[in-house]
Amino acid sequence: MNAAAVTKRQQTLQRKLLAWYDRNGRDLPWRRSKDPYAVWLSEIMLQQTQVATVMPYYERFVRRFPTVHVLAAARIDAVLKLWAGLGYYSRARNLHKAAAEIVREHDGRFPDSVEALRTLPGIGRYTAAAIASICFGRRAAVVDGNVIRVLTRLFNISDDVRKPATVNRLWGIADSHAPARRCGDYNQAIMELGATVCTPGATARCDICPLQAQCAARKAQTVAELPRKSAKAVVRHETHIVAAICADDRWLIRRRPSDGLWGGLWELPSAQVSGAATVEAVRRLARSLGVPRCTVSTQPFCVSNHQLSHRLIRFTGYRCSLQGTEAADSMNADLRWVTLAQFSKLGISQAMRRIAEALGAGESNDRGTRSISRRQSRHGKPVRSAGTPRAASRRIA
Ligand code: SF4
Repeated sequence: MNAAAVTKRQQTLQRKLLAWYDRNGRDLPWRRSKDPYAVWLSEIMLQQTQVATVMPYYERFVRRFPTVHVLAAARIDAVLKLWAGLGYYSRARNLHKAAAEIVREHDGRFPDSVEALRTLPGIGRYTAAAIASICFGRRAAVVDGNVIRVLTRLFNISDDVRKPATVNRLWGIADSHAPARRCGDYNQAIMELGATVCTPGATARCDICPLQAQCAARKAQTVAELPRKSAKAVVRHETHIVAAICADDRWLIRRRPSDGLWGGLWELPSAQVSGAATVEAVRRLARSLGVPRCTVSTQPFCVSNHQLSHRLIRFTGYRCSLQGTEAADSMNADLRWVTLAQFSKLGISQAMRRIAEALGAGESNDRGTRSISRRQSRHGKPVRSAGTPRAASRRIA
């Protein structure tokens, strides 16, 4: 294909895509302005996540943190709390760090070039190009999962898209097709086509596609096979124990380290174990938290599986009651005693929310028994002693 023909083909694709997008682009909240804060936030939330899932999170987030200044001034706990359930929590932590950097280093204004945007935490090649093209009219192509699907089909590319060389090739094609004018709209158009028309496998709606005449895969009848991906990495199985340590209707929770899985979120203390979940492992975990003596129930209150992209985690939760008055001697800012209702209002993962719900359900089943004990106490039978959780609660309230 000579240079003139390539240019003509590129122009045809650009014109058809933009005309289609003008008529069919969805009215999404972050598309109603070119505000880089709104676009940045939506792009970060949409990574690995569907539009329908993102929508309520986005609306809540912009209500609570309407500007980059408000986000920068917020506590990370408040940010993680609004993010809870959306997954990939490093996105929220980076968002918070980047907001602080924009306020501190750029006087609260977003940088307008791809290069400068890429220096901010959590902003990679794709997000920088999306913000620069949509908000600042820069000519910068984007490649995400939707774009990969459209391009491999348009050009009938059967190389493995899990290989960096293939992705680089697709970035090159995307770049050569990005128009100088309306590049932000063009980027949104190709992503929109991938999301709503050029959908995975046999669901592609080629009959209504504006690019059907240009599509090589359609001609070759390879649409359903593309993009080609090598097998995913094997899913790893992990066993984690959860220590639900209770004293006077309060539970010991801790904040996870800021790096790694669910970083910065709160949890009922948990730990990965190499073999089966055992009561002894739970005791060890409790000791490591400064709770040297506690009674661990022999039966778990829940066994719950949580699937992540490359791991399947099996949580086994045990109730633990304090013996004696020691309660988390190493108490620090990352350990707290809270009721289950308070716990549910903090930033916690979906996996931990399910575990807390199982714990709460067990608690309500136990309430009948507890109220009998209280009635008995009114008749003169003591139900507490110095070694029961009431004594501990003096130190943990
Ligand atoms: S014709 Fe079909 S496969 Fe080709 S770009 Fe359009 S929807 Fe995708």
